[in-house]
Amino acid sequence: MKIGILGAGQLGRMLALAGYPLGHSFVFFDQAPGESTAGLGTTHIGQFTDQQALATFAKACDVVTYEFENVPCETAHFLSTKVPVYPPPQALEVSQDRIVEKTFLQNLGIATPRFEAASSETELRNACQKLGLPCIAKTRRFGYDGKGQARISDLAEIPAVWKTLGGTPLIIEGFVQFSRELSVIAARDVHGEIAIYPLAQNEHIQGILHRSEIPAPELSPTLRQEAQAIATKVLEKLSYVGVLAIELFQVGDHLLANEMAPRVHNSGHATIDGMVTSQFENHIRAISGMSLGSTEARARSVMYNLVGTTPDPKELSIIPDAKIHLYGKSPRSGRKLGHVTLLNPSESTETALSTKVTPKS
Ligand code: AMP
Repeated sequence: MKIGILGAGQLGRMLALAGYPLGHSFVFFDQAPGESTAGLGTTHIGQFTDQQALATFAKACDVVTYEFENVPCETAHFLSTKVPVYPPPQALEVSQDRIVEKTFLQNLGIATPRFEAASSETELRNACQKLGLPCIAKTRRFGYDGKGQARISDLAEIPAVWKTLGGTPLIIEGFVQFSRELSVIAARDVHGEIAIYPLAQNEHIQGILHRSEIPAPELSPTLRQEAQAIATKVLEKLSYVGVLAIELFQVGDHLLANEMAPRVHNSGHATIDGMVTSQFENHIRAISGMSLGSTEARARSVMYNLVGTTPDPKELSIIPDAKIHLYGKSPRSGRKLGHVTLLNPSESTETALSTKVTPKS
């Protein structure tokens, strides 16, 4: 099949790398050429609002998917009149607005952090008073990697936070004292079959994912089942096809759903080397009408992101167990340039890697 991907970043790259062995070819559509997908398929350059460019792209594809959730819903809807688009555009609608998203989750009986909407400084103040301090203000739309959010510990900070976040509609969330962050990555195929990966345990530095471990250690069967039930409810409600990720907070022996991403997810990159079928392969399998592959872990898999500057690959390769993935992107502060995965690492191997890749604070 000819698979079209909206976006030409590293997720598109890894989708294509997983899809070629299955006999597919790839076409990308982005607003600028993608360094990561260079050489992996034709890239159509155009605005997401340019219907003519989108129609030309659709003609070159048998099915279209996307690698990031800020693709305008209208773009996905327009393409879906010409070619199947998976995951369904409704998944974009839900995940693009944090209020819509948390309301959707709550309506499915899924617990989330407490939240209020605020569209003015006065509403922001009221929300903080209602939820209690500290709380977190986030832009309803277009936030990622901790961008577009601010912690409020004192009511005096409100005018500055309102200004910093750009005076746009906000969600205000009660601050959750979680014991750890987890994510569940799951896939649903066109026949409605679901496959769920073991949970990932995630650690962030300055809002950017730093380390993920799959399976999350010391996870009770109750929590595992709770996460699986959350993923299943969302996948079924959206008649979803493809891979979905849901970020979770563990509080005691319960989970709160923080956000969902209708796409392959950074916390699932360890599935490439560590699971029987990677999240990328399963996404491609799902959208191309195949059955899903096993999500079983072959090993305890630990992934570190390479952010901002990449250590010399030769230096990384000194650790013989390190599976190195570089995205072909030029270095820039805060930019994800690659990741490295270790399988069943000893403490000393992991320390050797983390010393090389942990950002200096
Ligand atoms: P988000 O953009 O919603 O994924 O938030 C980025 C990071 O901020 C999360 O991974 C958490 O570490 C932290 N965070 C977000 N929301 C909350 C919350 N309500 N309470 C505590 N920490 C949060």
